[in-house]
Amino acid sequence: CGIVGYIGNNDSKEILLKGLEKLEYRGYDSAGIAVRNENGIHVFKEKGRIADLRDVVDENVVAQIGIGHTRWATHGVPSRVNSHPHQSTSSRFTLVHNGVIENYDLLKREFLTETTFKSETDTEVIVQLIELFVKEGLEVLEAFRKTLTLLHGSYAIALLDAEDSETIYVAKNKSPLLVGLGNGFNVVASDAMAMLQVTDKYVELMDKEIVIVTMNSVTIQNLSGETIDREHYIAELDA
Ligand code: GLU
Repeated sequence: CGIVGYIGNNDSKEILLKGLEKLEYRGYDSAGIAVRNENGIHVFKEKGRIADLRDVVDENVVAQIGIGHTRWATHGVPSRVNSHPHQSTSSRFTLVHNGVIENYDLLKREFLTETTFKSETDTEVIVQLIELFVKEGLEVLEAFRKTLTLLHGSYAIALLDAEDSETIYVAKNKSPLLVGLGNGFNVVASDAMAMLQVTDKYVELMDKEIVIVTMNSVTIQNLSGETIDREHYIAELDA
């Protein structure tokens, strides 16, 4: 299982799909991508192999921002509906997640009794909480931060907002996640292997950090909202 993300000047689809193929060795039962262009967010996902996902991706959709996921099911059977990306009820928020949210049932009962869930996953709770807190008046970053402070368990997350064409929100706790730096683009991945095709410059993330990734900037914060400086390193691996 693994996640990838891309924001930049090129079409994201092939970069994401190639990245997911590089993560195949981690094991998975389904895969999906969500890409964003001027017409909105397009989600493609399928049970099975990356080759099966390729069959359902619409080649005509060109989009400069995207996130992708290979799933190793922990909550909910392997199926198209349970595969990631998952979307909030209004479809404003789209999210991929690796890991396990141990208190998802409690969070559902405490905050989301009005929400109709589409999947059986623990993951959907995350995206629905973000939407709930935004509806209650929080800015997206604050809603993301508040949601993360409520989660118990492990996560590597990438989030898209349909109303924001410039940002991928990222977070990590006890699941691997790196940010890759490019010229005119930035990427995220569970493993540098996934993105060596586009960059060898990486920034490591620590647990309970949030990253705001745009085409030209990478801002790391802790859960208190303080900005953290961190040097990048060069990955010495063969693509
Ligand atoms: N717990 C999530 C699910 O079952 C994510 C699993 C994963 O890490 O792939 O959908």
